[in-house]
Amino acid sequence: MTTDWKHQIKRLTDKGASYADVRYYPREKEDALFMWNGNFLNFNRSELSGFGVRVLVDGAWGFAASSNLGDVTATFDRAFENAVSAAKRVGRPIRLADKELLSGRFDSPCEVDPFEVPLAEQVAFMKELDGYLNQPGVEQRRVQLSTVNKTIRYYDSEGAEIEKHIIDIFPSIHVSAFDSEGVQQGRKYLPPRLGPTRGWETMDRDHWKAEAERIVDEMKTMLSAPKCPEGRMSVILMPDMMFLQVHETIGHPLELDRILGYELSFAGGSFVRLEDFGQLQYGSKKLNARADATLINSPGSFGYDDDGVKAQDQMLIKEGILVGALTSRQMVTEANDKAGREIFKSSGGSCRACAFNRVPIERMTNINVDPGEDGTLEDIIRNTEQGVILSGEKSWSIGSNREQFHFSTDIGWLVEDGVKKHIVKNCAYSGMTLDFYRSLTAVGDASTWEVQYVDNCGKGVPGQVMQLGHGVPVCRFDHVKVGE
Ligand SMILES: [Zn+2]
Repeated sequence: MTTDWKHQIKRLTDKGASYADVRYYPREKEDALFMWNGNFLNFNRSELSGFGVRVLVDGAWGFAASSNLGDVTATFDRAFENAVSAAKRVGRPIRLADKELLSGRFDSPCEVDPFEVPLAEQVAFMKELDGYLNQPGVEQRRVQLSTVNKTIRYYDSEGAEIEKHIIDIFPSIHVSAFDSEGVQQGRKYLPPRLGPTRGWETMDRDHWKAEAERIVDEMKTMLSAPKCPEGRMSVILMPDMMFLQVHETIGHPLELDRILGYELSFAGGSFVRLEDFGQLQYGSKKLNARADATLINSPGSFGYDDDGVKAQDQMLIKEGILVGALTSRQMVTEANDKAGREIFKSSGGSCRACAFNRVPIERMTNINVDPGEDGTLEDIIRNTEQGVILSGEKSWSIGSNREQFHFSTDIGWLVEDGVKKHIVKNCAYSGMTLDFYRSLTAVGDASTWEVQYVDNCGKGVPGQVMQLGHGVPVCRFDHVKVGE
């Protein structure tokens, strides 16, 4: 059965809607495999199909979704009726910022679709990874693999027609054991961007074997390592920690819906105010951060967002000054109106829904920090008097407006007088977001820059879990409070 989506959209605009769009997911497949201590513990497979309709009537949104293609006309009508009901209560009519009218197609780069690889072969690969981890001294081993394959077709009343094919693969390995004080010490590996594609072809045995051996060695060393020193010192964040710092204290606070007060769940506020754009000193002059949805091969690159706006590469923080945010068509007009000036020229293309039955909201694309001019990791270490190199996010706690944070990491290495010393355990650091970024004193060059993938960013009510990326270099911050 073919559905005439454009006809349905026109039916709603003929009835008086000022705007309507539909996202149709003909197919969305997700697998999640979990192996624990060599046991195949869990396997979840979901296959969904459905469509979600968004419509604006008299300045109010209506939304409805269904997985029944026999229910298309009724679902479009329900979205319209929901908007009519909402319009009676809406205080501030919604206006969408203008956009360039686009039609197009996006395919995420992939050579071998993981869903074409027999499940038995995937499990055998996981078993092999578990074998690399199964060494004396390791008490718990986890091997996880999740894969996604979805097609999304988008149409709107302005004439856009967009088709997206997204394939993602998120593998990870993890080992842990208890030290003599009964504290669990763990080490994990989630691959960063390994090349121009991200299908099953990236599951290279030699690569995984080397990484597995490394994390086992590091974890075992931690069992008898001294504790991380406490006090004020430099912290050198490796990309597998820096990405989370950026995620929680640049990405989330710069989502425009949060700044406007719409997203107060899950530490959902933001300390950023509309008057801050163009003048707030967010960090030192060495800080250049951007939202880059055009980055090759990342879950945060998707071609077109769910407003039908093309992927963009936009500065968020330029030489330390706040200049941009993560925006949708709806929020930019409201922000400009409330500020009484044009802060945002148009949508930055950051409006995404995680499924057909969720409404699009501001989500991170790839929130990156540009490489700097302070050399390699070795150069940065050589220029550090007293500090600790930190790697692997372990736990995090964030102020409700993202104004402060406390993170602990899997592992650390002491740095004294420009020399990398031994491993230290139980590492933690904390700070005030702006003070911390203003103390950024070294940004590694392109040799230190990695794209880390995130597959579990949560936001929204009802909840939406989103995938994205962070391209980040090694960074050093000075006078940071280190200690549990
Ligand atoms: Zn998040």
